[in-house]
Order: sequence, then structure tokens, then C-alpha cells
Amino acid sequence: MADRMQDVLKVIPKVDRILEWPEIVALCSGHDRPEVLAAIRRVLERIRNDVKNGNDATACASGRIVALITAELVNRSTSSLRGVINGTGVVVHTNLGRSPLAKEAEEAILAVASGYSNLEFDLGNGERGTRYDHVEGLICELTGAESALAVNNNAAAVMLALSSLAQDREVIVSRGELVEIGGSFRIPDVMRQSGAKLIEVGTTNRTHIRDFLTAITDATALLLKIHTSNFMIVGFTADASVAEMSALGQGTGIPVMLDAGSGCLIDLSPYGISGEPTVRHYLEAGADVVTFSGDKLLGGPQAGLIAGKRQFIEPMKRHPLLRALRMDKLTLAALEATLRLYRDERRALSAIPTLRMLTMTSEQLKRRAGTIARKLRKYLPDSVTLVTHLGESSAGGGSFPLLLLPTTLIEVRIAGWSPNHIDDALRRAAVPVVGRIHHDRFLLDARTILDRDLPALAASLRQVTTTQQAEEPV
Ligand SMILES: *Cc1c(COP(=O)(O)O)cnc(C)c1O
Repeated sequence: MADRMQDVLKVIPKVDRILEWPEIVALCSGHDRPEVLAAIRRVLERIRNDVKNGNDATACASGRIVALITAELVNRSTSSLRGVINGTGVVVHTNLGRSPLAKEAEEAILAVASGYSNLEFDLGNGERGTRYDHVEGLICELTGAESALAVNNNAAAVMLALSSLAQDREVIVSRGELVEIGGSFRIPDVMRQSGAKLIEVGTTNRTHIRDFLTAITDATALLLKIHTSNFMIVGFTADASVAEMSALGQGTGIPVMLDAGSGCLIDLSPYGISGEPTVRHYLEAGADVVTFSGDKLLGGPQAGLIAGKRQFIEPMKRHPLLRALRMDKLTLAALEATLRLYRDERRALSAIPTLRMLTMTSEQLKRRAGTIARKLRKYLPDSVTLVTHLGESSAGGGSFPLLLLPTTLIEVRIAGWSPNHIDDALRRAAVPVVGRIHHDRFLLDARTILDRDLPALAASLRQVTTTQQAEEPV
């Protein structure tokens, strides 16, 4: 085995020889020679590592080396942050940028991106305005709030609200809601950073309104409820509702805040997605302040929205932290455009990709998968087989942790390739494709593949099947 490895390592061509290959000479005419040289070195290094790891089947074929060097050069000339195709079926995929924006939001970004705008300028009287005015009215209109503010993300919204409402004072929270959201956003840590003192009440599985009542002291500044976005406690459980908490808050003069996490502006229960009350519902139930994300269920850009009573939101607008948490003009443009779509619920459901994907029916998805497979088929060599299967997708973004949405999956099989190898190759394609492997199948979910992705998906599938060869015995 070791001998064989040594043999293979010996036949790996040297840099000088590769530089003489006609394909590489051709490459040198389109790229700087040092760039090509560096690419050759990186590829050879990778091949040596592959051989050492035992993947030596076709490691040194010159055709493969040329393909790898070409890919390496392409790689170098593309941005680090780029578009990918989400075949995972997770609609709000935090690692893949959460919500794709509506066309209207994209256009709004373009409209202000490369010119000047009235970001902080009141066109009516020619005086200084504030950036927050562009969305406050819309948030109030869509949630029924008296006052609203939008900042960089929901973590920032929670931080600002706690600093503003409860600095150096006590905040009462149920033990069952001290969540970690991911990316190390942990409620107890955020609370400490904001200068508020956490008072935990109840138990992990059961907290009652009387637990809040008995914890109230002169130092209590806030009753806080947190949406347990990404997990669920099931079985023998109880929690204090927003309505109960606000009745208690009203009786004692203590404000009630809800970190709603995803934050939903329309009732999705007619589409089989139940259990997520709207922000309007929470405010009507008596919450004084509700914070939520812009790029989860809302389907807009990364943002944190704060909606609630004027007396609590106004101080946040003057808080020194706000300057550090403020939203930039491109985000603001996208957020305003997204919120405007919500004025007409039907329009929001069709124009906002996140909502559109979440509310697709299993029938629509079955047809969609069939259409995608048929369209792709035309561009692919015979070694590729596409097979559709019924399956499940998930909402993601910490919303509806247990909800599985029926979908249709497209399995990609390539003769002689393992699912892992397909997965790896597609992730490295010019337009990367991210799928998932389940029961030894490489799968793409029809739900999260956007229409605009189809040409690139076909190209990526073609690219991997024609420029790469099976590297492993399957
Ligand atoms: C997602 C989430 C956050 C963080 O929101 P970002 O917009 O990602 O900063 C905070 N709280 C809850 C309950 C969440 O679900």
C-alpha cells in the first residue's frame, strides 16, 4: 500500500513539464504567468494530499490536472461571497443567507445604491430627516403598533430594547425560554451586555404567571418573553402567555416585551403553517414591545424590527446605542420595499420568495420537481439520472422547529459516483449547488430551487459531470 502510494506520487508531473502542456500554454495567454504557476502548485499540492489519503485512482491523468488548474484559476477570479443554489429544502437557511429578496426589494436597492438619496433628508421642508422614518409608518400600519424602529438585526433590537428599558434593573424571564439561537446569541449573555439583570423564574418545562408575580420587586423593569424559536418543550409543560403577562404588567405598571424571533406579519395557518401568531396578534394581546427579524419569515433583508407603544419606543430612538446598531441605506431600501408588499397579503405571498416557497402545496411541488427534472435532463449526459421522490422540507431560521412540509425531491445519480462525491463536486461548481444526502441519496429539494437558478443548475451539473471523473470506487 505504502509502496503503491510512493509509485503514484512519483508519477505526478513536475511543474516545469506541466507549463509546457499546450492547454497550459493556452491558459498563460489569458492569465498572468505567476498566477498560472501558483494555480499549478496549489493543484499539485492537493493531488499529493489526495494520494496520501488513498484517493489515487485517477489522480495524475493530465486531463484531470488541466481541469483542476483551470478550475483553480476560475476560483481565484471569482468573489468569495457569491450566489449559490439552495437545494436543501430549508427555506430560511441562515448559512445560505436566509431570505432571498423579492424583485421589488432588489430594485429598491439598485435605485439608491450608486447615487444619493433622501436617507436623512426631509424633501418636504429641506431640513434634516431621520433614516428611521422611511419604515416606521409601514411597520405601524402592518402591526397596529403606535411606534416602531428598525435596526441592524433582531439581536441588536433585543440589545437596544433591554438597554433602553432595563439597564441596571431586573428583567424577569421564564427558565424555559433562556434560549441560544445559534451564532452564540444567548439570551443571558445579551442581557448581561445590555446591563440588565436576569431574574429566572419557573422551571425548564413549566412556568406560571404566579412565578412572575412573586419575582416582582421594586427593581423590576421588564417582564420578558422569548420565542423558543429553534426548539420545543413537549409533554408536561406550561408557560405564561403574552396576555397573562400583560395583565400582570398592567396591574403592576411594568412593561412586557416579547422577542418574537421570526416575527410573522400574516397568518400562515391557511397554508398548513400554524402556531406562529402574527406580530399584530401579540400587540393586541397586550405586549408593549415586540422585536423580530427582517430576514426570517418576513422574507426581507437582515434587520431587527421593534414595534410597540410610543412611550417605550421613543427612548430607544434617542438611545446612544442606536447609532452603533443602525441600518444602512441599502438594507433600508430593501426593507421598505418588502414591507410595502405586505399591504396586499396576496401580493406578499406571491412576490416574497420566502413566503412563496413556504406556502407551495405538495401538488405544486410535485409538478415543479417534474418540470425541473425535465428541463435539466436536456443538458445532461447519459451518465446522469434524475429521479423524483416524495420527501419533506423545513422552514429553517429557527421557525417551526418540528414542522415538516411535504415536498418532492430530485435525486441526482451519476454513474460511478457516490452521493458524497456528487455533493462535494456540486458544492465546488462554478455556481455552487448545495443539496443534502439522505438514505444514501444526493437530493435537491424543488421547494428552494428558484426559477432563476435553473440555467445555472443545469450548467453546474454539466460542468461536474464533464470536467470531473469518478475518483472513488463506489
Ligand atoms: C433569530 C432570533 C434572534 C436573532 O435574530 P437575528 O435577526 O438573527 O439577529 C433573536 N431571538 C430569537 C427568538 C430568534 O429566533
